[in-house]
Amino acid sequence: MKHITYPRSSLDSEPYWDGCRRGELRYQHCGACGEVVFHPRALCPYCLADALAWRLSTGRARIYSFSIQYLPLRPDDGDAAPRGLGIAEVDEGFHMFAEFLTDDLDSLAIDDRLEVVFEQIDEQLVLPKFKVLPR
Ligand SMILES: [Zn+2]
Repeated sequence: MKHITYPRSSLDSEPYWDGCRRGELRYQHCGACGEVVFHPRALCPYCLADALAWRLSTGRARIYSFSIQYLPLRPDDGDAAPRGLGIAEVDEGFHMFAEFLTDDLDSLAIDDRLEVVFEQIDEQLVLPKFKVLPR
């Protein structure tokens, strides 16, 4: 087992993680003010209404920002680097931190188009990552 701290599910985020296990990228939408909400929470951060509903993203996004991690977090985690990490701007209007998967890290660029993929980490955890699409 690698020494990486993975996110934990909570009452508010369980529908999100359940979506990942089903190959769905989910986000919340506020029925009171219409804002898109991500990451998962109980109340709308814009109007404090208890009116958040889950929606299904297309999983399409663009690179909003990125960095290339050249060194592994720990010496025994060498196969995890180099890798592209950054902020994906998802088409439905929210941003999320994720890993960008490509065979050519040196060609990563802002605005590159992305498509979500899901990686099974263990029995319960499936992480969303983004595949870089050809230009
Ligand atoms: Zn709201």
